[in-house]
Amino acid sequence: MVASKEKQRCRRCGKRFKKGGLAYRLKAELLSHFDGHIRDTGESLAELVGKIEEEMEEMTEEQLEKQIYQKFDYIVCPSCRDEIERFLNPPDEHEETK
Ligand SMILES: [Zn+2]
Repeated sequence: MVASKEKQRCRRCGKRFKKGGLAYRLKAELLSHFDGHIRDTGESLAELVGKIEEEMEEMTEEQLEKQIYQKFDYIVCPSCRDEIERFLNPPDEHEETK
């Protein structure tokens, strides 16, 4: 897909791609999602908010942005592709444990 004469490397493991070899492009977006449910950690809402504010104060604007929205556009090799797929779809986690 990427027509470049430069040697491409796998974004994840750094392996060089062979000419004409298989490579995969990973495009993903990671967005902050709030489902309206606050985790029951035994803390009061005020405590929780205080904690979040503390955490946010320590972050730079860039880090903060990453927490909310992150976009990925990576070229990866076939074995990393498989690992990413396994990570996203673990084979044995279909049972409801909670
Ligand atoms: Zn790789």
